[in-house]
Amino acid sequence: MGNIRFKAVADAISRKPVEVSPPSGKISDYFGELTFNEAAMREYLTEEAFKKVVSAIRLGEKIDRKVADQVASSLKAWATVKGATHYTHWFHPLTGATAEKHDAFIIPTDGGKAIENFHGSELIQQEPDASSFPSGGIRNTFEARGYTAWDPTSPAFIMDNTLCIPTIFVSYTGEALDYKTPLLKSISAIDKAAVDVCHYFSRDVTKVFPTLGWEQEYFLVDSALYFARPDLALTGRTVFGHASAKDQQLSDHYFGSIAERVKQFMKDFEIEAHKLGIPLKTRHNEVAPNQFECAPVYEEANLSVDHNQLIMHVMQKVARNHDLTVLLHEKPYAKVNGSGKHNNWSLATNTGENLLTPGNTPAKNLRFLTFLVNVLMAVHRHADLVRASIASAGNDLRLGAHEAPPAIISVFIGSYLSAVLDEIESQKSSSRIKTNLTEGLNLNIPKVPEILLDNTDRNRTSPFAFTGNKFEFRAVGSSDTCSNAMSVLNAVVADQLMRFKTEVNKLIDGKKKKNVAVITVLKKYIKESKNIRFEGNSYSDEWAEEAQKRGLPNLRTTPEALASMIKPENIKLFENLQILTGRETVARYEIKLENYIKKLQIEARVMGDLAKNHIIPTAIRYQNLLVENTKGLKEVLDNKSYVKLSRNQIQTIKEISEHIAEIKENVDNMIEERKKANRIDSAVEKAETYKNNVVPFFEEIRYHIDKLELLVDDELWTLPKYRELLFIR
Ligand code: ADP
Ligand code: MG
Repeated sequence: MGNIRFKAVADAISRKPVEVSPPSGKISDYFGELTFNEAAMREYLTEEAFKKVVSAIRLGEKIDRKVADQVASSLKAWATVKGATHYTHWFHPLTGATAEKHDAFIIPTDGGKAIENFHGSELIQQEPDASSFPSGGIRNTFEARGYTAWDPTSPAFIMDNTLCIPTIFVSYTGEALDYKTPLLKSISAIDKAAVDVCHYFSRDVTKVFPTLGWEQEYFLVDSALYFARPDLALTGRTVFGHASAKDQQLSDHYFGSIAERVKQFMKDFEIEAHKLGIPLKTRHNEVAPNQFECAPVYEEANLSVDHNQLIMHVMQKVARNHDLTVLLHEKPYAKVNGSGKHNNWSLATNTGENLLTPGNTPAKNLRFLTFLVNVLMAVHRHADLVRASIASAGNDLRLGAHEAPPAIISVFIGSYLSAVLDEIESQKSSSRIKTNLTEGLNLNIPKVPEILLDNTDRNRTSPFAFTGNKFEFRAVGSSDTCSNAMSVLNAVVADQLMRFKTEVNKLIDGKKKKNVAVITVLKKYIKESKNIRFEGNSYSDEWAEEAQKRGLPNLRTTPEALASMIKPENIKLFENLQILTGRETVARYEIKLENYIKKLQIEARVMGDLAKNHIIPTAIRYQNLLVENTKGLKEVLDNKSYVKLSRNQIQTIKEISEHIAEIKENVDNMIEERKKANRIDSAVEKAETYKNNVVPFFEEIRYHIDKLELLVDDELWTLPKYRELLFIR
């Protein structure tokens, strides 16, 4: 059999772009056509059912059984017209992926026939036998039943002729087994807390909801090359590979023109996305070669999280038609920028306002500052939870590697807002402010103009940056669900807003004027949260030192970061907000640890296998060639010339042997350590042991293998090289 690498390279370079022709008409003509959106509901639902569903979406009202039956039969009618034959409850188990189990619409009837049928009960609730999903011990076999329940706030959609109904996934005991349940609860917690705070400024705000706009980074690689790299196929990243002579040094890929094959792929998945109602807007090349980004217009957070889960799936599916594979891993290639998923987050109101947009009246201005400062305070107080929300084995390889934000959580707000906060802080006495909020008079606080949008966002190194009218949480991993990051952010801000309200009310009860009370508390917060603010280069080593002086946590690895989840005060926070019970939190913590351990275990295995089955045999083959060659030289050359001229070959033969010996020894030791680690029962200890005793071998083994890659004849090397993976499309 020939060298699989050459075959893959030949396949990859011979491919032509797959021409994609968009559906006729404008994007707006087919946008959302595969979702049961308002237009479809209007067409298919009775007036009564339509109103009920809309108030369920907008106000969270319950849908009764009769209405559910109507919705189900309309959904079925709509979906079958669109060619759907099956339906599924679509949910987000704690694997971080999405899950579905398809059922046909049909039920058998007399005479060997069947009819399409779909009941309200099937829409509202299902009991998938999904007992193999991680539950962190919540689902013991005696209570193994898990239920999915309809989430009417995210519209049903059709994919591959299947009607997908977004659902939550809970255990028989009602405990959450998914990422959606706590997200929905966190959205409701922040709604209540933020509405209460809004009422200091105006009564017309009756609903507040978080908004999310994600930016999804990813790599593309030709599928033939991908499958010729077992490490990529099994772990999502390359565990070996010498850097290409040229990669991203020239920044010539960033925002460059998009290659035709890639462009066709993008066009294709954007069409699919638009049909599914995902408002994709932006596409561009990223910094690393073959790295790209797509981003939608922001939406209500729950819907946006669903859309991100969906887009990751759609991209991978569509890529197959183009013989491309999407790499969502945080760090597919060493020494080349990794991928993240910026989560742009803000708070919107039923009155159509964004609470993080600087206002043009003093009251709105103060409301803006109130929310801004409370977010600062929330992140200051719970930086550990924010850090834990994005922890994963993949993200450990990216955070703090001078290409992505460090593991130290800080907030950037820009020089203009910093000056505003400094000025508020330095004002002598807030009781000098004698004006009344509702009258909209001068509040003696600096005016924050709307042009702020252009004045901020100059700092791309901050993990959490205010960018004019939203916060951009940049430390989220590219393969992660946004759900966790968003639930935690909503939760810590909700908690903070509740504290704020308590403090302000106390001052009001003590006969302080409302606006004075608000400003007094804000002033205190500005002082208290100062340490979390950082305007400089977060990638620098100086910042790590400075952060340490400030006492900010620098939780570099996943096990360290996850430990914050189960601190008693953090468990309590989620309990108080009724987002997660203590048992649910602990279960999640254990699942995350298990996931971390398993990822490392798989990587370690792949590394050992490849080292022994691919690398060492190849190196020996080449070494044999050199040995044959030196033997031949000895035959044909006189002794003096031989000694002089064979020196290089003999040196290389020795070097190869040394690298092989090192690889062999390190792999054996790694396997030994892995075995020891696997015998440990406690997940925490096991994770720590993997991190401290197994992972250090990765670098060591890789070092010698990457050296061999440079020594061994290119003709013999079987694994596609970085220059091929990164540059061939
Ligand atoms: P970049 O960070 O690359 O400069 P943009 O500033 O254009 O990108 O926007 C990034 C994302 O922020 C987009 O998805 C956009 O929809 C989203 N966004 C804008 N306003 C808000 C908001 N109020 N809430 C949440 N996301 C928002
Ligand atoms: Mg961004």
